[in-house]
Amino acid sequence: MRTVAIVPAAGSGRRLASRLGKPFVLLNGRPIASYTLKALNRSSAIDAIVIACEKRYMDRFRTLVKQYRLKKVIGIVIGGRTRRDSVKNCLDSIDGSYDIILIHDVARPLVSGDIIKRSVAAAKKFGACVTAVPETDTVKVRDGSMNVAKTLDRSLLFRAQTPQVFKMEIIRKAYNFKAAQGATDDSALAEAAGSKVKILVGSYRNIKITTKEDLKLAEVLL
Ligand code: C5P
Repeated sequence: MRTVAIVPAAGSGRRLASRLGKPFVLLNGRPIASYTLKALNRSSAIDAIVIACEKRYMDRFRTLVKQYRLKKVIGIVIGGRTRRDSVKNCLDSIDGSYDIILIHDVARPLVSGDIIKRSVAAAKKFGACVTAVPETDTVKVRDGSMNVAKTLDRSLLFRAQTPQVFKMEIIRKAYNFKAAQGATDDSALAEAAGSKVKILVGSYRNIKITTKEDLKLAEVLL
């Protein structure tokens, strides 16, 4: 079975307050995107990589691909208004020669080879899988007046991360499903389209870089 990795790397990254554009913000002297793409490029579980980025960063991504010798990158497409649009543009550019699609945010540069391998294996076995970590905080749901409406049972809660990995027919069905307007990840679309998604326990190290504080934390964890 052949596996292609989709890397959504568009969006403003406004919360990081950087003029560089999030994928190119430096983490210990190297762009965030170089870590994420190298981890995927190096994995024997991945055969090809497609990136979605903002139009103005196309050339910078092409240069990065050359500089870090990312031989598995087969395409760089223009991202959309939302993450969902960006992933859809990647999916539309991929031909029928791949069986498994791994989706991994550029903003998670600390992903390990082990998680990539295990998540691809889980998708081959179960059809769809989301990496996630057990919730460590107690989570409240608010009402319209910012009072607590209820407290959720923490033992049942997981924080979804990427990679999220799917058999091709499952992810195509999920992305052709018009409902699920508020979905913020790929798993939610697959769930809404009626697919069963297996939870694979990932790692607390695999943080998503959103704020300056996350960047500092990633520097320590590297
Ligand atoms: O905004 P959020 O943190 O959910 O973004 C997750 C990932 O989706 C990031 O890697 C970001 O680059 C990507 N994204 C995208 N296109 C958008 C918005 C976000 O590729 N329009």
